[in-house]
Amino acid sequence: MKTIGIIGGMSWESSVSYYQQINRGVAAALGGLHSAKLVLYSVDFAEIEALQTRGDWQRSGELLAQAAVALESAGADFLVIATNTMHKVAEQVVQAVEIPLLHIADATADATADALLSSGISCVGLLGTRFTMEQAFYRERLEARGIQVLVPDGAGRAMVDRVIYQELCLGQVKPLSRRDYLEVIEKLASEGAQGVVLGCTEIGLLVGDSDTVVPLFDTTEIHAKAAVAKALES
Ligand code: GLU
Repeated sequence: MKTIGIIGGMSWESSVSYYQQINRGVAAALGGLHSAKLVLYSVDFAEIEALQTRGDWQRSGELLAQAAVALESAGADFLVIATNTMHKVAEQVVQAVEIPLLHIADATADATADALLSSGISCVGLLGTRFTMEQAFYRERLEARGIQVLVPDGAGRAMVDRVIYQELCLGQVKPLSRRDYLEVIEKLASEGAQGVVLGCTEIGLLVGDSDTVVPLFDTTEIHAKAAVAKALES
């Protein structure tokens, strides 16, 4: 089994989900007392968020690159960045190490493309931080696979972003915010989205497939599953 290197803490609430889902995936595949071999480097998210807000992606990329180097020297065989947003600096991380990065948007595009083949989905909604919804670095990986991407309108994006940073990353799961998210998802569906990508690793804490009219693609679940498959491949 390969050792997974996780750059986490963004936020730690979602790193918990990764840790649990990866270990459950390995146990389901191998049975008994098997669990994942992994090393977690958990950053101080307040530092990262301040750099995001200032637009200092260069410095945040340096911090994640340092984490990557530490994970490589601790024995990681490949890397997982446990946040969608910080894939904005994925290239800086890749350049710092020899080991490969399992990119969350590629894993999501693969999973969405599979669903696309089986259920004819070609247009998805994307929810995430304002960076993920408004900038190209994430959606272009989906669009490159022929998937059309819709995002909420300005007010919807502001609400989705606020709930991520001011509630979910602090471990607060509020029924009113769930209602607001479901409304945004319904609106995206009425505009043509046949599924919605939960492109932020905390959103799965708030909404699930059973709540919605269209299928959801939870990037934490997809990324954790892909990490398990990669760790177990020979
Ligand atoms: N975990 C979130 C994501 O997947 C947001 C936190 C961050 O800005 O990294 O984008």
